[in-house]
Amino acid sequence: MLGRFIERMATSAPLSLWRVVTKRDVLGFYYHVVSDEPLPHIRHLYPYKSARMFENDLKYLVANFNPITYGQLVEHHNRGQRLKPRSAILTFDDGLAECYSVARPLLLRYGIPCTFFITIDYIGNRKMGTDHKASLCVDAVASLEDSVLSDVVESVSDHFDTELSSRLDLIRWTVSVAARDHSAVDYLCQLLDIDVPGYLAKRRPYMSADEILGLVRDGFTIGAHSLGHQEFGSMSDVEVERDIVGSCKAIAPLSGTPQVPFAFPFSADGVSRDMLQELRRRHACVGMFFDTKGIHRDREFMVNRMCADRPEGSAPGRSNLARRMARAYLGDLVARLSHK
Ligand SMILES: [Zn+2]
Repeated sequence: MLGRFIERMATSAPLSLWRVVTKRDVLGFYYHVVSDEPLPHIRHLYPYKSARMFENDLKYLVANFNPITYGQLVEHHNRGQRLKPRSAILTFDDGLAECYSVARPLLLRYGIPCTFFITIDYIGNRKMGTDHKASLCVDAVASLEDSVLSDVVESVSDHFDTELSSRLDLIRWTVSVAARDHSAVDYLCQLLDIDVPGYLAKRRPYMSADEILGLVRDGFTIGAHSLGHQEFGSMSDVEVERDIVGSCKAIAPLSGTPQVPFAFPFSADGVSRDMLQELRRRHACVGMFFDTKGIHRDREFMVNRMCADRPEGSAPGRSNLARRMARAYLGDLVARLSHK
């Protein structure tokens, strides 16, 4: 209740006030997907914006910010090149097909630069992300006949030594393992008879290498988003290095640039910043890092970004980005106060 009251206060304060209180050279935004279609591999993971809502966001950005390229950000970082006031950098994570089919034409129409962070395993629909498979599982569980459901619930409960008793229990359990537990999601796919290769071949949820090359020709920046979309916080330093360097090297021939930016899947929580600094020193192919902590200040090589996917607060003709920003400013303020 109190949280909601504070949020209402925060979102009604003018952004200019927040900007003065919390100075930032550049604000980062990240999306995953924009679509007018219900996407079975996404829809149980997070809500996303329609093409019209995304267009309203772009209009808002053009009117209130100076959208910059990744190259301009690097110039600022490396050579102290001044950025225009109210600079913003727009990004998409994962490499989903709608980056090309829906976001690209709108970004071109409004002349807004964008960086697309690609998961290597997804290029050309070679593999499906664990969280995307889990969304397909939720879809399947939701429509299971009662007679089959009880068998599936019992199998999962036995196999994972957990106590599930209903459809809702099973859906919640699936969502809870979606991002992290690859073998659990694969087990469930098998149990529910989900044809992942068939879905990849028919639906083609991710961009092809040709589409990624098309984005490069359009002038967009391509970055890496890991080899297989694992959570980095639980990896050893050696594994982190192998994944970051491997994925940046895989992107370099596509992007045509020797140095490739990298966005962490989920977040960079638990990853040593000293180790990342050292890694960048030793590997010239690794560019700046991108994280998902709103406007939180990190090391100079780490750019934080606000989540712009969620459509709440969007209205016909009105973007919700101001509201998303107010939330991020508030989150940063609360984090800083609680660390004092
Ligand atoms: Zn991701």
